[in-house]
Amino acid sequence: MGADGGSIPDRRDLVKTRGKAAVADKAVARERFFNCALSRKRLAKPVVADPLGKLYNKDAMIEYLLDKSAYGDGEQICPYILGVKDLLTLNAQPNPDEGEGKAPFVCWLSLKEMNGAVPFIALRHCGCVFADGALRAVLPNLAKVGDEAVGPTEEASCPNCTKPFHPTSAASVLPIYPSQDVQEVLLATLFATRAAAKANKKRKKEGKEKDGKEKDGKEEKGERASKVAKLKTEASSRSASGSPAPVSNASLAPSVRAQLAEHEKRRQAAKAGMSDAVKAMFHKNDGAKKGDVADFFGRTFNRYATN
Ligand SMILES: [Zn+2]
Repeated sequence: MGADGGSIPDRRDLVKTRGKAAVADKAVARERFFNCALSRKRLAKPVVADPLGKLYNKDAMIEYLLDKSAYGDGEQICPYILGVKDLLTLNAQPNPDEGEGKAPFVCWLSLKEMNGAVPFIALRHCGCVFADGALRAVLPNLAKVGDEAVGPTEEASCPNCTKPFHPTSAASVLPIYPSQDVQEVLLATLFATRAAAKANKKRKKEGKEKDGKEKDGKEEKGERASKVAKLKTEASSRSASGSPAPVSNASLAPSVRAQLAEHEKRRQAAKAGMSDAVKAMFHKNDGAKKGDVADFFGRTFNRYATN
């Protein structure tokens, strides 16, 4: 072969193909920072991040939570979201430059555009969004996802809103659209937190029963109904007024339980190997369709690429 006149791809062809794919990947990666992963409309406040760091317009997410078929393939994009408590409302600075091709948001510190060119990160306790490098320049001891869990340490203040938090805890940070490796760790954390919360609830209930205060089944049903009503009210008030409803950070911030669960999560994750742990927890706890696991990590931008 080679001198028979057949077509053998040379280096130039290979570079051309790879170059095209790289350009497409880059465009797709960029797109995620501009548009809601569900509605594909341009991101505009209020914006929420899910536990894996994907971005949504809050109204689209509420619509999705009320009707999982509202966006067709929504359940393939974020099947791990169970309710508003899984979401972090972001305090992102709108880009003062609204010109064409400009990203919707910029870093509070460096004013760099959040367009996928450099990594961005949100602080979970307040939702403020920064370029990762700019924030770490101010807070050099800020933890990364996957860091060893550490006990409470001295507090630091958010350099934007000054709300105090523990910078050395990995539970304090949420990277925006991180790599798949980091998304897997975040997903494992989510499921471990849920499992711990469930176990904690069970323990409490058993304790109550011991004291002769059995929980009434009707009461539980009532709780659920009021939750649905609350969600609906929030959504309808938004559409009625045409302006975003006020956002409660308190309801979205990670619970104390989440931090307690973190120790257990890291122990389990290290034991099982991250990918296996993710798969096992995904199927056990979420009842999602089989075969989805590897799929949704890249789901948002795959959709852009194929349409
Ligand atoms: Zn803040």
